[in-house]
Order: sequence, then C-alpha cells, then structure tokens
Amino acid sequence: MHQIKTYYKIVRSTLLQYLPRGHLAAAAALSVGLVVVLGSEHQTNSEIASIPSQNIPGLEIQGVDTQATPIAVPAVETIIQTIAATPELTKPQQAPQDLSPQWKEFTVQNGDNLSILFKRAGLNDRTIYELFSDAKDAKDLRNIRPGQKMEFLVENGQLQGLNYIVNELNSLKFTRGAKGFTAKQTALKPDVKYAFRQASIDSSLYMAGKRAGMPSTLTMELANIFGWDIDFALDIQKGDSFKVMYEEQHLNGKKIGTGKIMAAEFTNGGKTFKAVRYTDKDGSSNYYTPDGRGMHKAFLRTPIEFARISSHFSLGRKHPVLHIIRAHKGTDYAAARGTPIRSTGNGKIAFAGRKNGFGNTVIIQHGQGIETLYGHMNGFAKGMRSGARVSQGDVIGYVGSTGLASGPHLHYEFHVNGQVRNPVTVPLPKSIGIEKTEVARFNETTRPLIAKLDQYKSASRLAVAKSGSSNN
Ligand SMILES: [Zn+2]
Repeated sequence: MHQIKTYYKIVRSTLLQYLPRGHLAAAAALSVGLVVVLGSEHQTNSEIASIPSQNIPGLEIQGVDTQATPIAVPAVETIIQTIAATPELTKPQQAPQDLSPQWKEFTVQNGDNLSILFKRAGLNDRTIYELFSDAKDAKDLRNIRPGQKMEFLVENGQLQGLNYIVNELNSLKFTRGAKGFTAKQTALKPDVKYAFRQASIDSSLYMAGKRAGMPSTLTMELANIFGWDIDFALDIQKGDSFKVMYEEQHLNGKKIGTGKIMAAEFTNGGKTFKAVRYTDKDGSSNYYTPDGRGMHKAFLRTPIEFARISSHFSLGRKHPVLHIIRAHKGTDYAAARGTPIRSTGNGKIAFAGRKNGFGNTVIIQHGQGIETLYGHMNGFAKGMRSGARVSQGDVIGYVGSTGLASGPHLHYEFHVNGQVRNPVTVPLPKSIGIEKTEVARFNETTRPLIAKLDQYKSASRLAVAKSGSSNN
C-alpha cells in the first residue's frame, strides 16, 4: 500500500463587485476555489463559497498525510469553508485594484542583462535606475549569471519587490517603501556534516577518488595535502590507499556543497601519512601532522614554476654584463617576461623597490634568520610594500630585466643569518609547526577529528567483516 501525501491547497481568485459610491450594505463576492492535489497528478475542480471581499488569512492547509491508492479513482476529499458575509461596510469601497499581486519568477538566461530581464517582467529601465539610485546594494545586480533566479512583485505596472536569488544560501531582496527601495541581504547557514570516503588505488589516485564518489576538486585537495611527502606522478603504487573525512554542506536535508578536508590518511608503499586541518587564532588554516608539524615545507625550492636555471650560484664567474669576475650569489631562472614570481615562504616584505643592479627587487624576511631576494622584476604584484605579509606561493611580482640584466630572468637569493647560500642545495628548513602558544588549542580541536577518522576506519572494517563487502 502506497502512502501518498495529499496536499490541500485553497486557491482564491478575485471576483470584484463594485458598489455605488457612498452606499453601504451589499458585499463583494470572492470565489473560493478548493484544489486537492493527489501526488501532484490529480486535480479536481473547485467548490465555490460566497465570502466578503476581505483577506482570508490562513486559508491554506498543507502537508496532510493520507493513505490512498494512486491508480484508482481520484479519491478526493473536499473541504468547504464558508465564511459568513460581514454585514456592513462603513466606508465607500475603494477604486478597484489588483488585490493579490503575485511574485513572478524568472531564470536568468544566457545573454540576459538587467534591461532584458526587467522587460520580461513588464518593467522598463526607469525602474532599474530607481533601484540603483535608491539602494546601494543594487550594484550586486550587475553580477547576474545564467541559471540564477529573480522574483518580481509588480503591481499596477510598478515594481514593489524584487528578490535576487544569488544561490541556495544567499539572496538579496528589494522592497519599495515610502522613501524608495530598500535592500535586505539574506544568508542562510547550511548544516555542516562530515562525510567519509576511502579507496584503494588500482591505477591512479584520480580513478580511485572517482570510484569512491569524491568530487575531483576533493581528490586534488587530497593530493595537495600529501604532495610534499608523496610524489603523485612517480610514487603511487597499486595497493596504496587513502581515507578522507571532509565537510559537506546541507540545506533542508539536501546536499548543496563540498567543504574542506578535515582529516585524511594516505598509505603509500606501506608508509602511512596523516593530516588534520587546523585554523589558528589568526584565522589562517593549514594542514598538520597529528603531532603538530606542518604538512608543507617552510620553503618552496624555486620561486617560478617550469623555469630553466640559466645561471647557477657560484662564488667566481664572469658577469655577463659587466664582464668582470664576480661572485654570483644567487640562482638565475630564465623565463618569459611577465611570468609570475612566487614567495617561496611565509614572511614579511622587508623591501620592495629599485635596488641598483638588481632593478626592481623584493626582499622577504621569513623568520628563523632567513631572507629571500628576488631581482630584475618587470613589475610588482599589488600590495607589495614594506611590512606587507605574504604567504608561501603568493605572487609578489613578474619576471623582467630591470637593472643589470642581459635578458628577462629572475635572480633569486637565499640568505641564512646574513650569509648567502645556494638556493638549489641549501637544506630547506623543516616545516613550520604549531606555535607553542597554540599547542593546547591545536590538540583540543584536532584530536576529535582524528578520532572520528579512526573510528570510521574501525567501523568500516567491522562492516567489511560482517557483510564481507566493502563499503567505499
Ligand atoms: Zn643573477
């Protein structure tokens, strides 16, 4: 026996009667329609009752569960609601109006702009102008994208309300008031749940992730987390495996998005690596080993990807421009003009400007007595000034040939306690770990996450043992 949800919805239509000016008595009649929808397939006609021309509050009944068979005669239950007519009206009836303007929804199509959308809703550019001059937030309407929804409330050809549904969580509503339009932003908070996935690798990490039902962005994030320990191009072997616990956003019971990986484990060639996400007191999030060491090294080996070393560090070579024997205290990376240059570590800009033969130069202080220098830049990235903070991998400038340079390249230096070192061979400092002041907080927040991941492991092993099948 099927259980069918039956929705009763009472639909009201307007049927106006006009009264002689100044006259009392007599009431306008509205027709009340009653529609019963069975499994949203069957519909019946309405019963009509006579009621006065007043608003009928609460005339909507929803979510009534009944048991019925869907194939049989549309078993319709009817509700007839009769409201006695109120006897007198003391004031003359107002001019006829559309009593119940309806919200109309439009989906933004490819090639739409505000003007087109408003026209579709029966409005002209003047309304757009009004919106933009009344409400500051109207500028957000410039960001409309295909697939988004816009709801218009139009009354007598005039816009009364506009609801711009940015996404499942965010919307922006404009309402016309006495002083023009006002805007209200609404942001829903999704429920965040933890999701688990695990898989053994057969051919590639990508395929294993796909088999485990992971979005590809999540697989890439997993590779990024363990990328300093495992070379995913060369080291991956058949039989390697991973487990991952990540956030999933739900709204009204529906999954609407994938969040960050919170804890993960990767076994490569019999060796197991674990990582957990931690957001420190300053709000910056990173991945750490369970005992608080950073998953990432403190320094990238090179500040440019895919560049060729055109001149090595040496303490005696002929300078290509000056043609004298001079130490080359850094490494030159030849790259096309404009190639982005990245900070090799977290730090603070100590210098950004012209520096004699180095031309446009950035010097970054990284702590632990380490400084890096980047020379011959074509230009600086936005915000590069003394004191500015940079993170590892941030673009700080672009390859050029300013200063004494024979062609576009980056001159990169690595200083430890004031001494120049060969950037290619210098032992890179160990990963930045959790600061002492954060250890307690780190343990408090990350231990439950690791425990959850471990629990999931044992739970799934139990399930495997019981049912003899894997539950990837
Ligand atoms: Zn150089």
